[in-house]
Formats: sequence, structure tokens, C-alpha cells
Amino acid sequence: MKLLVARLLVGLLVATATATTAPPTGGSGSGGETRSANKHNTKHGFTHGQDVLILDSPSHDFVGDTQPYRFHKIVRIPCAEPFCSKESFQSLLQNSMAVVSVLSWTSKHVDVQINTVVDPASVLPFLSGVSVLVDDVQDLVDREMNRLALSQAAFASLDMESLFAPDVWFSDYHKYDQIVAWFKDLSDKFPDLITFIPSIGKTYLKKDIIGIKVGSSVNADTKPQFWFHSGDHAREWIGPATVQFLVHNLVTEYASNPTLLDSTELIIVPLMNVDGYEHTWSGNRLWRKNRRPIKKDFFGSVGVDLNRNWPAHWGEGGSSSYPFSDTYMGPSAGSEPEVQSLISFFKNDNHTRLIGAIDFHSFSQLILRPYGWTEERAPDEKHLKTAGDGIRDAIKRVSGKKYVSEREIDLYAASGTASDWFYDEEVQEWLPDRRLYAYTIELRPSADEANGANGFILPPDQIVPTGQEILAAVKYYLDYARKNPLKV
Ligand SMILES: [Zn+2]
Repeated sequence: MKLLVARLLVGLLVATATATTAPPTGGSGSGGETRSANKHNTKHGFTHGQDVLILDSPSHDFVGDTQPYRFHKIVRIPCAEPFCSKESFQSLLQNSMAVVSVLSWTSKHVDVQINTVVDPASVLPFLSGVSVLVDDVQDLVDREMNRLALSQAAFASLDMESLFAPDVWFSDYHKYDQIVAWFKDLSDKFPDLITFIPSIGKTYLKKDIIGIKVGSSVNADTKPQFWFHSGDHAREWIGPATVQFLVHNLVTEYASNPTLLDSTELIIVPLMNVDGYEHTWSGNRLWRKNRRPIKKDFFGSVGVDLNRNWPAHWGEGGSSSYPFSDTYMGPSAGSEPEVQSLISFFKNDNHTRLIGAIDFHSFSQLILRPYGWTEERAPDEKHLKTAGDGIRDAIKRVSGKKYVSEREIDLYAASGTASDWFYDEEVQEWLPDRRLYAYTIELRPSADEANGANGFILPPDQIVPTGQEILAAVKYYLDYARKNPLKV
């Protein structure tokens, strides 16, 4: 009851404050002013409905709140054209305090997690046809946390060798410490193929972000390099699990098929947002951002969206300047320690042969290519499309699953993303003779299969089939990029 009172009190404060306070204007930093980001996120375009939308502070952590998703529902908003394609609609969702998170976005509908004690139809009164997919998000998360508690107890009874046996390891998700130990163990088993880097940098909470390099000693100094990373968004557990599956299969296949690792080196950060990931294991299963408290924020908001914080046209649309938002871009471009760690590792002197980079997310089954921040056609659109479509087709051949290959901007605007950074000017300054095959891949499930509810809580029996289809896709991708490098 106390928490409910606290929530409503905060809601009232929020309503009062946002009625009189302009949104933050962002900070200095290489991204410069936040011109376009703030262009649409004022209240002016959304006068009706705005008052009832302001109910709570989604990123505020109430101390001792063991039920963070109480009063949360998941609703589906049908896309009546041209509604879903309107920037103003996207901005509304990203800058409304009742909207905890936009879960998926398709041409047919948008699924949104909202925090409300009232009927969603009342929360979004200006929209018709809104349907409730999940009436009690807390119940959904509680069931998953109970399931995990049982599986973790079973794992705890095993010795390391039994736990790391592939059949056991890939039967479920694992905590950060276990993942680190697993990679270390795998590198010990394949010392000629894997280099384990204990820390490429620290998170806000001083946790080590690990790095992995995979490749044989053949052509070690000349072969092209590719970058993979995952776990930017804490709740997208299938991303790090898929990267583990990829590494495991590539090294175990090497004895029978050495071609790939003789001709390619992979540079991998398997779990970027360690703090956020650990937070998801504490019951806050649907947490997305990192865990840095935002200084001087009136509402005590926590966390920056690490895939809106890269210095790649940062703050130029598709992100929020409100710290409470799930897509908060941060106070300045590249402000977050996790983004800084990956950038400095990416620009390591030994990484001058990079020709491609993939950032693995979930969900919706998408292969997204540059750009996210502008409608402008990427200079290498032809090759980027061919390779993206090829990834899609390789997946379908393995599992029959339909992924959509498209430009990110054609789905929704997003700036400050990793994949635009991989492709854009900053990397160009460092590797001036080329551009990279840069993609964001959204893994299982599809937006329709998820039914808006369990998209992030993907059943663990999906780990292996997801890994198998992505393994095939990655093999195709590496081969295509090696044969068709993008030159400037
Ligand atoms: Zn994501």
C-alpha cells in the first residue's frame, strides 16, 4: 500500500513538474546540440490525452519494491495508416511517462507496456481499437522468476564440467558470473582458437565487460576481422545466449571445417550491459537500460539506453531526452562507460582489419541495415541490402523462420545506435579506406508470435534453434562480406 501511495505521489509530482518544465536539452559532447531529438518530444502535439498519460515514473526504482510491474499492462495499438509511421506517434510513445516501454513495432501494430491503475483504453483515449494483451505483467514476470529459481537450483547442484556440457548449458539462460566462467573454460579448452580478455572496460557498477577473440593462427595477421556484440539491452537474454552458441559451434566445428576460422577473425563482446543484465535477474526482468543513476534528475531516474548513446548522429530523432524514458539517450553522446569501453576496444590497434559488425538484439526477427537516423540512402545500400536479404534467406533455409530485412529508418527512426556508428563517420575517421557491413539483428520471436507478452521472456527451448539459424546466417554473412568488401 505504501508503494502505491508513493507511486501516485510521484505521479502527481510528475504531472505538476512536466506541466511547467521544459525537457532537458542534453549536454555538450561530440553530438553537439540535440536539435531534432527535441523537435517532436514537446507536449505541444499531444495535448489531448497527455494528462492521463502522466501517471508514474517508469525508470524510478522504489527502494524495496519487489513487485516492479504491479499495475503494468501490455496493450496492442493497431496501426491505422498513416498513424504508425508518424514521427509524432513514435515520439509520444517515447516521451510519455505512462509508457514504460515500446515492446515491438510492426506495420500492423505496436505493442506497448504501460504503467497504469486505470483501463488502458482510458490511458490512450485518443486511440481506437487498443486491446489488452497482458493484464498483469507482474504475474508474467513472477512465473518466469519462479521457473528460473528452480533451474538455477538444479544447476547449482552440478559441478562445472556437468554444467558446461552443451546439452545442459544451452538448455537455459545463465547469470553473468556463470557466462564469464563458461567463456573462460571454453578458451581453456580451445587455447589455439579463443583468446579470452577478462576486461575490455568497466560498467558503471565496476563490473568487467569481457571480450573474446576467435580465430586460428592461420593468416593471423592478414585475415579480415568482424565484430559482434550483444546484451546492450538488459532484458534481451537471447542475444548473449546466441553469441555463446555461435562461439561454441564455430570452435567445435573447426577440426572438421577449418575454413572459416582460418580466413576470419571474430572480435566479440558477448555481454555489454552487465549491470542491466544482473538487474534483470533480480526480478526486474524487463529492464532495458544500464544502471547509472541520472544526476540531478528530479525523479531519480536510472539508466541510459545504450543503443541510443553512441556518437552517431546522437540525439537526432528516435530517442528520448527524458531520463525516465526507456529510450533515454543520455546527457551527451557516448556518455556511458559501457559505450566508451566498447568504442575503445573497437578502435584497438590490433583491430585494423575490421570489415563488418553485428549488434544482436531481440525481438521481432529483423535484419536492420543503416541508416536509422536519416531517410538518406546509405552509399553501400546495394551491397547492404543484398547481404541483409541473404542473411534472411539463410535463416529461412535452416528453420523456416521469417525474418524481415529492411533499412532501420523504414521501421522506425533511431539515432545514436551502434550499427549506425559502425557504418558512419566515426569509424571512417579511424578506418578511412572502407565502410563496414553493419547490422542490427533482432532475434526470435516475431512480433506476432510474441503476442506482445513474452517477447523478451523467450522460452529457453528456443536458445538452440535460434542459435542454429543465426549460425547459418553468420556463415553466409562472413563469406559475402569477405568477397565484397565495402571500399570508399
Ligand atoms: Zn535491443
